[in-house]
Amino acid sequence: MNCAPLYINGEFVETRERQNVLNPSTGKVIAQVFLASEKEIDLAVESARKAFDKGAWRGFSLKERKAVILRIAEGILNKAEELARIETESTGKPIKETTFMDVPSAAKTFEHAANNLENYLINETLAPAQEAGAVLLREPVGVVSLIIPWNYPLLIASWKLASALAAGNTVILKPSSITPLTAFELGKIIHEAGMPPGVVNIINASGAKSGQILCCDKRIDMVSFTGSLEVGKEILRYTSSSVKKLLLELGGKSASLVFADVDIETAVNSSLCSVFLNQGQMCTAMSRILVQEKIYDQFVASFVSKAKAIKLGLSDNHETQMGPLVTDSQRKKIIAYLEKAKTEGARILCGGKIPQDAELKNGYFFEPTVIGNVKPHMHIFKEEVFGPVAIVGSFSDSKEAVELANSSDFGLAACIWSKDLGLAEEVAKKINAGTIWINTYGMFYDQLPYGGFKQSGFGKELGRDGLLEYTRLKNIIIDHSNEGKPLVNYWYGF
Ligand code: NAD
Repeated sequence: MNCAPLYINGEFVETRERQNVLNPSTGKVIAQVFLASEKEIDLAVESARKAFDKGAWRGFSLKERKAVILRIAEGILNKAEELARIETESTGKPIKETTFMDVPSAAKTFEHAANNLENYLINETLAPAQEAGAVLLREPVGVVSLIIPWNYPLLIASWKLASALAAGNTVILKPSSITPLTAFELGKIIHEAGMPPGVVNIINASGAKSGQILCCDKRIDMVSFTGSLEVGKEILRYTSSSVKKLLLELGGKSASLVFADVDIETAVNSSLCSVFLNQGQMCTAMSRILVQEKIYDQFVASFVSKAKAIKLGLSDNHETQMGPLVTDSQRKKIIAYLEKAKTEGARILCGGKIPQDAELKNGYFFEPTVIGNVKPHMHIFKEEVFGPVAIVGSFSDSKEAVELANSSDFGLAACIWSKDLGLAEEVAKKINAGTIWINTYGMFYDQLPYGGFKQSGFGKELGRDGLLEYTRLKNIIIDHSNEGKPLVNYWYGF
């Protein structure tokens, strides 16, 4: 069976231990990946450190950096079909999503970072006073650990790698060991693009084993983490031990506010997509759909009937609209949430079960589920379920809509559906979330920063701000006083 090697210091490394990767549609082993022991994790850190301090990468001009990163984008496009297939087989995401979203978006992110790094990495020359000049230098931070989750393995790896590399850093990438395959494919593409050895290192290891070294070790300057709130808190503790720069992109419990003046079918169709895409395993899933009272019944009737019609199927089938959850344990977690919600008084309006079709029986499928009668104090209203589960509720006016949207510890994203753009913008300003979509959902643009507020984390991915996260600003002050004698020269009267 094919076993993917690690990528350390420009070499493909095999280790003693192997780990299976499953296809969530069938529960079958599709590949193996070598597991890094402490020795390989240490080698990866050391190689990134050396490549930053002594390697050729620091000497690359911005133009040369741009050229390598553009070749990575090209490499992704050349292997687009294969990458989409591997991502689908290992995550369970329908092939339509990986083909038309994940893979082309990953290539575009590298392209954008490459084409804009010269515009974004601007050094400034200032004259703060008559006797002084200053240069503000945008430098790479150094060695960055990139730790990513299983729900968008290729895309999130690309977001982080593109910005970190465009800014001139060296990195250790650790994909989730549930879905590591496309990260290692990306490693091959990066190698073929001519990246100097040690600039990109990719390891496969459990978080428990690698977390401490990737987040505490003094050879590492920054950690960029995307994942759950629980692990995010652990990472905060780790990085505090050696005071590292940290970018945290955590979970969400986002609200979609549907006002009564909308075209109901547009809002229903779009809301289905906003919560059920990728089986609801999206950090920005609009898992709380709040509808203005006047259209609540009509909206919910249509939403439930269309949710029931979503076509579950094997993820490699182009007709499939919803694939399996990523693991059986993720499915069990969702079932436990639903049981708790029922005991708290919520009502399942559709779904809530494992489908019985013979074709799906070995995979981790779960029906698209809509829950009503949910109150803000319930667990299901507050916590991230991370599956195909939508809560529907109502609001009377925009004040109540904002209060409900903000009654969450998270602050990742929100949607507003209304023909009244003035009202929608006013509401958007009052919502505590980092990204607000008005009359659309899920549109990410490489030019625009993305990142959460509150317990959804801090820092930005994408755009100029996302790239600048991976830089540090150095201030060089130069004295220009008369005859080279600065004020401090006279201080002691000598
Ligand atoms: P997770 O937190 O369990 O794991 C994320 C990564 O952290 C994995 O690579 C894992 O191996 C690693 N990890 C686990 N324990 C660790 C430790 N102690 N130290 C260091 N690393 C450790 O998350 P997940 O289940 O893979 O992904 C789902 C979560 O990710 C959801 O909460 C989702 O909202 C969040 N997410 C957020 C965004 C965003 O942009 N805000 C995007 C995608 C996913």
